[in-house]
Amino acid sequence: GSVMEKVLQRRSLRMRNMQRSWQESPEGRRMLDFRKSLPAFREKERLLQAIARNQVVVISGETGCGKTTQLPQYILESEIESGRGAFCSIICTQPRRISAMTVSERVSSERGEPLGESVGYKVRLEGMKGKNTHLLFCTSGILLRRLLSDRNLDGITHVFVDEIHERGMNEDFLLIVLKDLLPRRRDLRLILMSATLNADLFSSYFGGAPMIRIPGFTYPVRALFLEDILEMTGYRLSSFNQIDDYGQEKMWKTQKQLAPRKRKNQITTLVEEALNKSNFENYSSRVHESLSSWIPDCIGFNLIEAVLCHICRKERLGAVLVFMTGWEDISCLRDQLKAHPLLGDPNRVLVLTCHGSMATAEQKLIFEKPPPNVRKVVLATNMAEASITINDIVFVVDCGKAKETTYDALNNTPCLLPSWISQASARQRRGRAGRVQPGECYHLYPQCVYEAFAEYQLPELLRTPLNSLCLQIKSLQVESIGGFLSAALQPPEPLAVQNAVDFLKMIGALDENENLTHLGKFLSVLPVDPKLGKMLIMGAIFRCFDPILTVVAGLSVRDPFLLPQDKKDLAGTAKSRFSAKDYSDHMALVRAFEGWKDAEREGSAYEYCWRNFLSLQTLQAIHSLRKQFTYILKDAGLLDTDGATNNRLSHNQSLVRAVICSGLFPGIASVVHRETSMSFKTMDDGQVLLYGNSVNARYQTIQYPWLVFGEKVKVNTVFIRDSTGVSDSILILFGGKLDYGAMAGNLKMLEGYIDFFMDPSLAECYVKLKEELEKLLQK
Ligand code: ADP
Ligand code: MG
Repeated sequence: GSVMEKVLQRRSLRMRNMQRSWQESPEGRRMLDFRKSLPAFREKERLLQAIARNQVVVISGETGCGKTTQLPQYILESEIESGRGAFCSIICTQPRRISAMTVSERVSSERGEPLGESVGYKVRLEGMKGKNTHLLFCTSGILLRRLLSDRNLDGITHVFVDEIHERGMNEDFLLIVLKDLLPRRRDLRLILMSATLNADLFSSYFGGAPMIRIPGFTYPVRALFLEDILEMTGYRLSSFNQIDDYGQEKMWKTQKQLAPRKRKNQITTLVEEALNKSNFENYSSRVHESLSSWIPDCIGFNLIEAVLCHICRKERLGAVLVFMTGWEDISCLRDQLKAHPLLGDPNRVLVLTCHGSMATAEQKLIFEKPPPNVRKVVLATNMAEASITINDIVFVVDCGKAKETTYDALNNTPCLLPSWISQASARQRRGRAGRVQPGECYHLYPQCVYEAFAEYQLPELLRTPLNSLCLQIKSLQVESIGGFLSAALQPPEPLAVQNAVDFLKMIGALDENENLTHLGKFLSVLPVDPKLGKMLIMGAIFRCFDPILTVVAGLSVRDPFLLPQDKKDLAGTAKSRFSAKDYSDHMALVRAFEGWKDAEREGSAYEYCWRNFLSLQTLQAIHSLRKQFTYILKDAGLLDTDGATNNRLSHNQSLVRAVICSGLFPGIASVVHRETSMSFKTMDDGQVLLYGNSVNARYQTIQYPWLVFGEKVKVNTVFIRDSTGVSDSILILFGGKLDYGAMAGNLKMLEGYIDFFMDPSLAECYVKLKEELEKLLQK
């Protein structure tokens, strides 16, 4: 004890010396001056005191005031200054990987240290921390995972939960667990940080915890809505034909018949009419739907292009931030802008993108000053709304939508629609323009639509399937999942919980009594969706690991096959070249990935991707995820050290197909052939359609009675995305649980079906597999 104490004391002194010498260096002083200019600094003493005196404190303040980068740092600095640096251990959670990474990088540079010294980060499958790390930024998922094995968070002194206003599922989950932990860890400090005003909700959840508000200063931002924008840009649209070019949608077409001056009022009237016709009292999900379908994309790329043009030609200097719905849209728009005479000219406009999976070099550029007389334009997803602050933004373009998953518990279907954002989000987006000087925000929708937005967004816990969450709750040794979740800020519907439990039983992660099975235990530590985790384990057991690894990595990153709006057909044809008549999007993905590896060896990766409508960046992400999964499975003892053994059967297409089926079950649809067409029915007898980009959508007939699919998505109608054809025997053998009993039964049947795999060498393999399974599942 006392030896350790001495070591820590000595280290604390060293930390203090280092901190002081940095703060006294010229560079350190400059950094300190900047930090002192942030609004959070004025509240520093008050904050430190509140945290010292209360177990829980709720802090709110406008985005950019210095919550994330400063507050945890204040604690660290004051502990170090008081000679207790080595004794403290601070965790600060972020909802997104990317913000954990950028923020930790920023804080370590503010401290004049390389990342991984006193400040580090950890996100899923990646991290940078060392033995001297005392302030760790991590995703909320990582802290939850840690809580599974370390129920009391031993050794942790402070936990910051950031961005709680977003009401992410992991944050809501964390709060339940931490609330339960606090009485057991009287010395632990919990600090909740939020950007907007509903701090009292969190305070009362923690029995009236004190709230501190950091007053911020931002410049006024003028809000322009679609009607204003039309007027501003309208005079340049000298003829209505041009308007048509600017958006092919219904609304614009209607405008064609109207006199120019009437345009503005007419648009408002049209939208209002649509709203009235449906006679909605309040905002409801139906309004959501009707609005989305009524003005589908008046928000087209062309409108954004027109607004950007207007800003670049007519407005003062200043960077532009464009909020879009997702990576797909961002990359399409970026490509479109490249061809534009003004916006595509790198000497005048610097177009950058900002989204969850961008490369580090590009991340840095976003924060940097552009060359003189070049205007910076950043195309961003929702993440630039609150988690990332770009200082020099003067203009914001807000498309009014965000991709969010909603969950329909009744049909047990997740829906992924770009849907209208909330008023709180719209205001938040607007605020991003007023950081350095008065700004302007171009909302690409009429004001009356804004007024129909929900005030706040629904918490994620109430709008996503709970499969993964329930598995994690179970591994906290919780008796009743429903009971546990009823302690949430806003508990989910019982039906949603029941669906998740049923699902976990179906895949064999829970037994009949809702206890974790061996498989369930494995799945709860693998950082992927339980379904995909199961597929990985099966791929390892059945010795066809490599192709399965690609499939799982692909499904957890995103589809590398691009689908540009204007070249859908060409892209579809390009993808179908990878399908080799085996009726499988997953196999097509495997081939495309392997083709890319070959092309890379020959130095033609770029051409390969271009020719085949593949995203180089996504393929790279899949590549690195593959490596990380391999590492984790090795670590869990599920892989042989000898790669060849794991892949002995990788060439066996039927087996790969079977393992895909085992992972994706119960995502299964029957193929119903009619004379000239096909239709597809899921297990619950729902009709589904194939996504346009699926290789299976290109066939007249499918040579398999079943399709397994990863995802059912509701976009007006229900679609299935990627699918693979499977036979009756595969479905019987592999569509089900992986508990030993059932598996042994399956293996017996397999022996009977031996020639269906057309590989006699498998027979001997089954005996081995049986032994292995036995060993594996008894561990
Ligand atoms: P909050 O969490 O309150 O939204 P942050 O702590 O993230 O605010 O940021 C505070 C300020 O620090 C920002 O306004 C910005 O000036 C600066 N800042 C944050 N991240 C970076 C970065 N990566 N590069 C440069 N400056 C940054
Ligand atoms: Mg922040």
